[in-house]
Amino acid sequence: MVQGERSHIAIIGAGIVGLAFAVALNALDKEHKFAIDLYEATPELAEIGAGINVWPLTLSILKEMGLHQTLIPFFDHYPDLERRVIFGLRKADEKNGFHVYDVMNEGGALRIHRADLQRGLIQHLPLSKSNKVHINTPCTFHLNHRLKDYTRDASEDFGRIKLHFDKKPSRECDVLIGADGIHSTVRQLFLSRLPSPERYDKYRKPVWSGLVAYRGLVSREDLEETYPGHRALTHPGLIYTGKTRYVTIYPVSGGKFINVVAIARDTSNDTGVWKGPWKVEVTQEEFFHTYQGFDEEVLALIHCIKKPTKWALHVLDHLDIFSKQQVFLMGDAAHAMLPHLGAGATVGIEDAYILASMLTHQSTSRPLNSEKIKLISTIYNTVLVPHATRMSKLTNDTGHLLDLTAPGFDLEHYTLGDRIPLETLINAFRQVERNWIWSSSDPEEDRRKVEDLLESWSGPRLSISHQ
Ligand SMILES: Cc1cc2nc3c(=O)[nH]c(=O)nc-3n(C[C@H](O)[C@H](O)[C@H](O)COP(=O)(O)OP(=O)(O)OC[C@H]3O[C@@H](n4cnc5c(N)ncnc54)[C@H](O)[C@@H]3O)c2cc1C
Repeated sequence: MVQGERSHIAIIGAGIVGLAFAVALNALDKEHKFAIDLYEATPELAEIGAGINVWPLTLSILKEMGLHQTLIPFFDHYPDLERRVIFGLRKADEKNGFHVYDVMNEGGALRIHRADLQRGLIQHLPLSKSNKVHINTPCTFHLNHRLKDYTRDASEDFGRIKLHFDKKPSRECDVLIGADGIHSTVRQLFLSRLPSPERYDKYRKPVWSGLVAYRGLVSREDLEETYPGHRALTHPGLIYTGKTRYVTIYPVSGGKFINVVAIARDTSNDTGVWKGPWKVEVTQEEFFHTYQGFDEEVLALIHCIKKPTKWALHVLDHLDIFSKQQVFLMGDAAHAMLPHLGAGATVGIEDAYILASMLTHQSTSRPLNSEKIKLISTIYNTVLVPHATRMSKLTNDTGHLLDLTAPGFDLEHYTLGDRIPLETLINAFRQVERNWIWSSSDPEEDRRKVEDLLESWSGPRLSISHQ
């Protein structure tokens, strides 16, 4: 690499995490050390439907990336750190459901339509035509570029990486970011090139969790007509729980829609393998059938979803390496987790923020050198692998609490529709609240820790703070 030149970073995948990394790098790259090529397989960025929780932790990172003002109009309340209800938990697998517990945190949850978050991130990409952001790190966006393979000149310590695309000319880069989602091509290639690749065979493909999620958006008008005075019309967020299944709802788009995610354990399939497409349109009858016997508030929501979709929920649990030398995995490509805690995108945005912080740190030269990129890669693994593992375990535990199947809470004596003592339920849901404490932690602390490590690395010893 020529002295003083910018290092070239290729990001594969323009989902929320790939976009967040490009925006974070530009925001932090005050010394203009990098240039980005962002490659996306699809010919255009589809507007992803449904809602997403933005936690105080996520918002602090987005603020650092300059997105705060852009996103505020889309949130259901002005962001602050006031203690708020994030979900009202109701026992609902019986005719007359009832309130059990309010799960609260500092700052609540900011609910946003995914398309609005995606649009905000795109507006902040440092593209040459941008009039929204100051360009520190020029970014070129290549749609319709599906990565098929990458090769690296192993004879050089810091050789350039050659990217091979489907029906497009090859390109080169110095650093490769795999932000290409749960099916990640980069992950599969990366793992196959590690020493003892057979050790990683089980991480190449995601695994079905045994769960399905029914999803849909309910229009406020439809719900008002179907069930006047429905609690969902005024509540910031509710979870209707039952044995082996539950329904999460919250408003998006300023309350115009109510986002519904209904998760159920699929007991009809005990093979551990999902056959068929991961996402299908299903009939309302199937949705009703899965939640039969539930409270009428739940049935009214299902009634308003004319075309529900069913997603087979897959995971990539506990991969123990996200980076080597010049290749980094982030987001679902590294650690796709279940949606019980609404944490998947946030953990991916943390990956993006921490890596961008290290790459742009004052101790990092322009251009990058071999020694520094190896150190960054080591710290990335040391800090973010245990963090993602903890978060995915916490997510699994929370799922078992929310569908009343968690061991150790005296829930095992009950089946679907049984009356469970209030005290037992409260005990389980207090634990749910504790499991959400991470959502208002301070990402700056993690950034400082990582930067300290970068300045004084003497072997693996630290991981980032929140649960
Ligand atoms: C029901 C549900 C609810 C959820 N709720 C929340 C929530 O409230 N909060 C939260 O934080 N998370 C939530 N999540 C998790 C969150 O949606 C994901 O973690 C997040 O969207 C992952 O983003 P990503 O950018 O890593 O991957 P993706 O969004 O999958 O993006 C990957 C991109 O890479 C592209 N790509 C793939 N292969 C290639 C290739 N070979 N070459 C080039 N491009 C490629 C794809 O086209 C895509 O655009 C939820 C998930 C589900 C299923």
